[in-house]
Amino acid sequence: MKHICVLPGDGIGPEVVESAVAVLKAVTDDLQFEYAEIGQSALKKVGSTMPDETLELLRKCDSSLFGAITSSESLGEASPVLRFRKELDLFANLRPVKNYVNLAGRPSIDVVIVRENTEGLYTQNEQYDDKGVTTLRRVTRAASERIVRFAIDYSLKNARKSICCVHKSNVLRASDGLFVSIFRELMASEGRVLEAREQLVDSAAMKLVNSPHEFDVIVTLNLYGDILSDVAAGTAGGLGFAPSGNIGRVYSVFEPAHGSAPDIAGEGAANPTATILAGAMMLDHLKMRNEAVSIRQAVKSTYDSGHLTTDIGGRHGSRSFTDHVIGRLKRGDS
Ligand code: ATP
Repeated sequence: MKHICVLPGDGIGPEVVESAVAVLKAVTDDLQFEYAEIGQSALKKVGSTMPDETLELLRKCDSSLFGAITSSESLGEASPVLRFRKELDLFANLRPVKNYVNLAGRPSIDVVIVRENTEGLYTQNEQYDDKGVTTLRRVTRAASERIVRFAIDYSLKNARKSICCVHKSNVLRASDGLFVSIFRELMASEGRVLEAREQLVDSAAMKLVNSPHEFDVIVTLNLYGDILSDVAAGTAGGLGFAPSGNIGRVYSVFEPAHGSAPDIAGEGAANPTATILAGAMMLDHLKMRNEAVSIRQAVKSTYDSGHLTTDIGGRHGSRSFTDHVIGRLKRGDS
């Protein structure tokens, strides 16, 4: 029995997590779910957006499923998401983006973005002076090596063919230059069987819209990975389609790539696909591969048979879409 820490969070987080947990329960009896508070809902209930008990449960469980939080605008308060990524040393953010539905005018996409998850601009180190603000952007050799190694390892294990290093080293010559030079070194020594490619981040964004087939696996720095994965999600149908995994040597937390979408929270209109697919990624990570494949096939078959969610012009909200996925899993006709 594997123990899963569930963090529904804010906005549409609880709705999409409820769907993913229902799908996971339909595919296996080998998971035990334990719930904890995070975000604004935790602040209201226990006075902190990231209570100590939540961090403790994240450490105790075999893996975790997280919905979303509504970011606090007050300065000086660390984001609970950045906190758990840091405290659990979740150094890799894995974001696979693939079409589950064919939409007119959009090219097909099957890209995995491997995003450095611990440094860059996300250390939230910002200093005021009398003229403005300076934000520290940190790129270290150790973090760059470990994320490039993760991308190589992932690509080899998952039969991917090429890795493209996305950067802006024509402007950020020292920091992005370091990242690119480490990519070249490690691809030449440990990733020789893979094709090594390089692309500036601005043109990479355009290609993810116009010709995403040019990419297989992308390895990139924190902010670029965050932005590019939303661009790629747009090509695949929208934010409701992009799952994400925060992975470290010991711990892991899986979540949709989207946020808490307060504009549609409580309406039952959120597309739960990204969170259901995040649940499948969690099963892959826990080596429950057959169950993960069944979930992905059930999602694909639900879309293929015309059951579309409202974000792409269909009529299904979170509940009814989830019921269709579960129906397919139970009948075994995924
Ligand atoms: P946050 O501040 O938590 O990041 P946000 O609204 O700024 O929230 P997202 O939650 O990522 O950012 O979403 C941007 C928009 O995309 C939302 O306003 C919503 O309309 C749409 N959206 C995001 N996720 C979904 C989803 N699962 N299903 C349908 N629409 C979604």
